[in-house]
Amino acid sequence: MELILATGNPHKKEELSRILAPHHILIPSDIGVSFDAEEIGTTYLENALIKAGVLAEAAGGRPVMADDSGISVPALGGAPGVYSARYGSNEAGRELEAPERNDFLLRNMSHLTGDGRRAFFVCCMVLILDEYRIFTAQETFGGIIADKPFGTGGFGYDPIFHLPDRDCTVAELDAAEKDRISHRGRAGLRIKAVLDNLDASP
Ligand code: IMP
Repeated sequence: MELILATGNPHKKEELSRILAPHHILIPSDIGVSFDAEEIGTTYLENALIKAGVLAEAAGGRPVMADDSGISVPALGGAPGVYSARYGSNEAGRELEAPERNDFLLRNMSHLTGDGRRAFFVCCMVLILDEYRIFTAQETFGGIIADKPFGTGGFGYDPIFHLPDRDCTVAELDAAEKDRISHRGRAGLRIKAVLDNLDASP
């Protein structure tokens, strides 16, 4: 099936194309549609629904998908959470680059040790096949916030997300391994199972 993904981020297109293969992922610019949705929700599910709904309307009813993700530190009350992409922007007066956001999080956690450094990624996916056929999946991926960044792969918070059982950060994993165990990989597999087993509509 061909799906349009509610993002302008080529990184997400690449990751989800691998995870959902052989289903074919397009982004709005591939079909000449402009897409911009304000992420005003307070949960991952709300934001994913907002993005998918705006795109479904713009794409004239073609099947669409959206995801919303972030990282939560329970010892910081769940922050950065749904604000992960904008974390530190208010304090800096501008949007931070990923390494700056990582430093900001590390500084905010400098007083935390042991279990206090526990964190998890979350990914919520919404699939809208048509107005009446809507599927969602939300998954997590747990780890520990490292003392400093390690590794050059991945993106965002990956260099400071340490996996104790592998003794490396997510930025040190290869892409296929990250897909297998990550929040996006796991939510994507649930959505893929839906796509692989669709009944005739309605
Ligand atoms: P979204 O585009 O609204 O889903 O924003 C997600 C934000 O959460 C990104 O900008 C990243 O900072 C962070 N994030 C989500 N998933 C990951 C991941 O797999 N690795 C690292 N950072 C992530």
